[in-house]
Amino acid sequence: MMMNATESREETVRYVRLIFPLMTKHGIPITPKNYTTWYYYVSGRNKELQEAIDSITESNKPYTKETNEEIYQRFVVEKEENTLKGIRKKLQQTLLTVFGELKELSGQTEEYESTALENVEKLTDDMSIRDIRNILDEVIVATKKIRRFGEATQQRLKETTKTLHVMQKEFEHAKSELLQDFLTGVMNRKGFDETLEKLTNESTGNLCVLILDIDHFKKFNDMHGHIVGDEVLKFVAKNIRKNVKGKDIVSRIGGEEFAVILPETPLLGAATVAENIRASIARLKLERKGKTEILGMITVSIGVAQYRQGEPLKDFVGRADQALYSAKNTGRNRVAAESMISNRVE
Ligand code: GH3
Ligand code: MG
Ligand code: MG
Repeated sequence: MMMNATESREETVRYVRLIFPLMTKHGIPITPKNYTTWYYYVSGRNKELQEAIDSITESNKPYTKETNEEIYQRFVVEKEENTLKGIRKKLQQTLLTVFGELKELSGQTEEYESTALENVEKLTDDMSIRDIRNILDEVIVATKKIRRFGEATQQRLKETTKTLHVMQKEFEHAKSELLQDFLTGVMNRKGFDETLEKLTNESTGNLCVLILDIDHFKKFNDMHGHIVGDEVLKFVAKNIRKNVKGKDIVSRIGGEEFAVILPETPLLGAATVAENIRASIARLKLERKGKTEILGMITVSIGVAQYRQGEPLKDFVGRADQALYSAKNTGRNRVAAESMISNRVE
């Protein structure tokens, strides 16, 4: 999501006041997707989306649920993809310019040229965020190595390095937005997938994952509305974070579903962390700010699994999901660890 997680509370409240009358006016059902679309609209964070909606409403065309879905796909989902594409393209162009300039120089640049050309070739469309960063790092190192040329060349290389650094910053910024959940500030699904891949590759054992799902959240939303529901999601995220260490990675991987990656933690330790999270959420009474009305309790169910060296990630996460399912089926508000016996391959 391209929204800023550090938006001030006043700003958010102001947007919310604007969003609902607009959505009601157009008869748009208040679902997370639709809400996101209109959040972008009123916050002015997505100019193309704003213009597209304006041009539809100004032309007096009906604004339907389907229109909203189209806008969401085109200006929210695709925009995220395009941001990365744009960065790739710019990187490619910058690199080609650098090589063009360096070609004039003799054999001395051979080494640099080959690093750089290899990198341009690597810039294919399916490249991950991590790959792009590695390439930027490599090119910066290679550019810095060239110290033996005349002043004019030095100057040009300095400029190039500067451009690369700016791109690196832009890239880091875009990346953190792409991997962050705008509502709770924890990682999003994409962030979770990338991090899990990286950490399982690096792991030498004892890596666990928790999958947490809020109990009967649909009922809660129906009773108190989506806005209060969203506050609960933030509250749950905060409580998960409070109960884990700095190296643990918290993500929102679905509407009301969270995951925590726990590196260097055995299954028993992970189950203890899960139990602490569960208890800390169940302990708190939710009240509406400034009112005595009690919103009731929120509980969560959590499934825990430990990574088995070399297994496909979907098997690993699948076992945590199965454990979660069993926690739900045995009464909710509980933690279940993967079954050690039934899943073992003999
Ligand atoms: P269970 O205990 O079996 O998990 O029941 P549940 O009602 O939590 O599960 P279900 O999957 O049926 O419903 C999930 C609900 O979560 C649907 C929707 O009301 C709510 N939800 C999903 N995403 C969001 C969101 O972004 N914001 C809010 N406020 N609610 C959400
Ligand atoms: Mg769910
Ligand atoms: Mg649920």
